[in-house]
Amino acid sequence: MEIEELPGIGPATAEKLKEAGYRTIESIALATVAELKEVAGIGEGTAKKIIDAARESLKMGFITGIEVLKKREQMKRITTGSKELDRLLGGGIETQAITEFFGEFGSGKTQICHQLSVNVQLPEEKGGLGKGAIYIDTENTFRPERIIQMAKALELDPNEVLENIIVARAYNSDHQMLLAEKAEEIIKDKNIGLIVVDSLTSHFRSDYSGRGTLAERQQKLNRHMHFLQKLADIYNLAVVVTNQVMARPDMFFGDPTAPIGGHIVGHTSTFRIYLRKSKGGKRVARLVDSPNLPEGEVIFMVTEEGIRD
Ligand code: ADP
Ligand code: MG
Repeated sequence: MEIEELPGIGPATAEKLKEAGYRTIESIALATVAELKEVAGIGEGTAKKIIDAARESLKMGFITGIEVLKKREQMKRITTGSKELDRLLGGGIETQAITEFFGEFGSGKTQICHQLSVNVQLPEEKGGLGKGAIYIDTENTFRPERIIQMAKALELDPNEVLENIIVARAYNSDHQMLLAEKAEEIIKDKNIGLIVVDSLTSHFRSDYSGRGTLAERQQKLNRHMHFLQKLADIYNLAVVVTNQVMARPDMFFGDPTAPIGGHIVGHTSTFRIYLRKSKGGKRVARLVDSPNLPEGEVIFMVTEEGIRD
């Protein structure tokens, strides 16, 4: 279904909505009345009617606890390659959820993304989903050579593994959001079990750096995250995002993971893991908040073979 088919959307409104990035029924269903009013120059009543129709067409509404349970039972996990890190996550990265790795430059975020793109391809009995990955690369740090190393270490065919990772370079935050929408077509076409966005926040940080633009940045980022969450739900896949933050060595009390400049992701991720470098190539991972897992810290390594204990 196209957005033009929603009641209340004429050609001119459709054009304005698309220009502002609302290209799918999903994006409209997740929009707020205020957003639509602003970008499409329509009245409050019309905006509300459009959003309601989009939600109705997607059957977004209440479901019973049993249905929630049934959906949770479909949930699967992808191993990180480290038993310790898996344990921290309750057995690996969950599908139907967004997992955010945040930490300083060099803390291992991109290495984990590479490893998961390989591991998702393992058969289920080996901790994978037997599916491919979509990798949205915003910092130009995706390295096929690294994938080959990791694939070989798992005795997988490196070419086949690379074949099953669909990479897209995002040039700015709008492009990044557009790629996420395009990802939906690839998911329908190919067997995709993981979407990586590395990094989620770098473009948003640089595109909206002035003071007056913070609210807009937040709004767009929320929309992006909600769209990713929707993909995770509908297609039972895992979403992994990274967020580079500066450590705060000055803080002895309180939360040392609170980044300078504040968190820009907020609480849209289901799982948040703070990474930091330690001695001898070791990395420390700390689960920061989770709906159903205890907080804790574990140690893992980034080796030639990939993520290991
Ligand atoms: P970021 O959190 O900034 O994304 P990365 O995931 O890129 O950080 O981590 C980079 C680090 O990963 C390097 O500093 C190095 O310690 C480690 N690393 C990268 N490639 C290899 C490799 N082939 N063998 C061992 N360690 C590696
Ligand atoms: Mg990185």
